[in-house]
Amino acid sequence: MKIITTAAEMMKFASEQQNDGSTVGFVPTMGALHRGHASLIRIAREHNAKTVVSVFVNPTQFNETSDLQNYPRTFDDDKALLEQEDVDVMFFPSADEVYPDSNLKHYKMDGLDEGMEGPNRPGHFNGVVQVVTRLFDLVKPTNAYFGEKDFQQLAIIKHMSQKLGYAVNVVGCPTIREADGLALSSRNTRLTTSGNQVANLIAQSLFQMKEGFDNGLNTDQVIELAEEELNRNANIDLEYLELVNPNTLLPATNHTSSIQACIAAWVDGVRLIDNLRVK
Ligand code: AMP
Repeated sequence: MKIITTAAEMMKFASEQQNDGSTVGFVPTMGALHRGHASLIRIAREHNAKTVVSVFVNPTQFNETSDLQNYPRTFDDDKALLEQEDVDVMFFPSADEVYPDSNLKHYKMDGLDEGMEGPNRPGHFNGVVQVVTRLFDLVKPTNAYFGEKDFQQLAIIKHMSQKLGYAVNVVGCPTIREADGLALSSRNTRLTTSGNQVANLIAQSLFQMKEGFDNGLNTDQVIELAEEELNRNANIDLEYLELVNPNTLLPATNHTSSIQACIAAWVDGVRLIDNLRVK
């Protein structure tokens, strides 16, 4: 596996692949890699001649300095996982390589950033679009893989890459969970053992909402059911629970045919998000 740390070297690798006619599958990450990341990498490897994984904790998408500082950084373990998964390139740039110019752009996301994470994490999605577009410019991928775990992020990246004219096929990949339901996340390493169990209520409430819709309940009844489940433990602090149309991300009504339930909640001072197609 090649480890690339500079923008120039990354662009050189990208143009070599273009000249050879090799497809490039790209998985952007912030490191602290787990089975969720590995599942994206396996899908990328299956469909592309070369696979590039970036590990970069992007400062511009953190709206709280303490969250950025506390974000886990595990270079040696990440490198070992990527070698094991037979990745061709680990792209591990510094912030100066990613952002040589301090004049960063502001993007209009056409309403997709107005609910859920948007108002709760001001500037977050702008930072995500800044880093993803810069990484696309450097890696020039044929296909790029993102987890449905970050549902709103996936919708925004799909929309923005098309709007900004990137010839990159953005692929959404299913959420990988622990056996008890908890969605894998780099942030889970900051949970205590009891916090880990409490956090599982997030997934349980999503599963209950799906069951509720399957049994013919309406949106209000389903929300009540989920809130009851989440209120079972005082150590979980719900930030939002929203039912949205999965394409527009606009609030769902009883007439919406497909519904995505999205949750953000705090456990042990750690902010966790999860979502599920419930209808
Ligand atoms: P992150 O390192 O958290 O920025 O995540 C990098 C990519 O992995 C993003 O596209 C995430 O949506 C995806 N990802 C994170 N956790 C999971 C998971 N549990 N299952 C599937 N994909 C995930």
